[in-house]
Amino acid sequence: MIDPDDSVLVGVSGGKDSMALLHFLLKLRKKMPRLIIVAVSVDEGISGYREKTILNLVNYARVHNVEYIVASFRDYIGATLDEVVKVSSEKGLPYLPCSYCGVFRRHVLNIVARKIGATVIATAHNADDVVQTYLMNLVNNSWDRIFSLSPVRTSSEEFVVKRVKPFYKTLEKESALYAILNGLVQLEYIQCPYAKYNVRFTIRKMLNELEDKYPGSKYGLLQSLLEIIRLRGSQITKKYTKCIVCGNPSSHSVCKACLFRALLGLLSPEEEKTVLEAAKTDPAVSRALSVKLVQKH
Ligand code: SF4
Ligand code: ZN
Repeated sequence: MIDPDDSVLVGVSGGKDSMALLHFLLKLRKKMPRLIIVAVSVDEGISGYREKTILNLVNYARVHNVEYIVASFRDYIGATLDEVVKVSSEKGLPYLPCSYCGVFRRHVLNIVARKIGATVIATAHNADDVVQTYLMNLVNNSWDRIFSLSPVRTSSEEFVVKRVKPFYKTLEKESALYAILNGLVQLEYIQCPYAKYNVRFTIRKMLNELEDKYPGSKYGLLQSLLEIIRLRGSQITKKYTKCIVCGNPSSHSVCKACLFRALLGLLSPEEEKTVLEAAKTDPAVSRALSVKLVQKH
């Protein structure tokens, strides 16, 4: 996943998984002294929630002398997530805080990765997260998204930064235990106020019940996912193009984050003109601008 000369952007929310990943990678750096590690925390702007977890990172980074960046939705998207949710309701768009949040978070990480010249983006998705996403996409019949759930994602395009999930096979309770034993987080549990609107949390509960009753179920599902990816793997190479608005990797001429920003009225006049021009020639863009958002995970 990571080479000794890599420059790694670690996505750190300040929660237990990402703090465990940062701590673990810093240990790895002792064996790979040329490794560059920069912790990047995306501040979505969720009042009463994110400020607390970011503080975990800031305190840790100061003590361990880690380079860190806090990149906010306000600066990179033009609005906080709370504002995005409010505007989307006013515009009659579906109530999908987590869809905006996930798309915009990836968008911000990609921009920051380009800015700092990162060669790898490491995120703390663990086995529980991966299996939950797998089931959510099965429910939606979203096979492209299932095929892209691999532990390492690379591309031959130079503008696509490699993405890795070092905790892919680590259960959430294991990374939580690692974080607690290393004193990386407060024991107080804070939940995002939007979490209850996400189908993930129903699936998470269901999976935990399944695991309690039939231990090993999560690993079984993870293995089945890896098998599906392996069977399909060699036949597909996802093609990326550069978003004409922001320059991030995208499946269409305009990326999903910029389409969301267009729907929410967050583009500058020039960016808006670019998107409207693209809509004339790219059916995917005109479709996205004319239809209501559909919840995908
Ligand atoms: Fe974002 Fe949803 Fe997670 Fe809250 S629960 S941080 S809104 S993805
Ligand atoms: Zn874009």
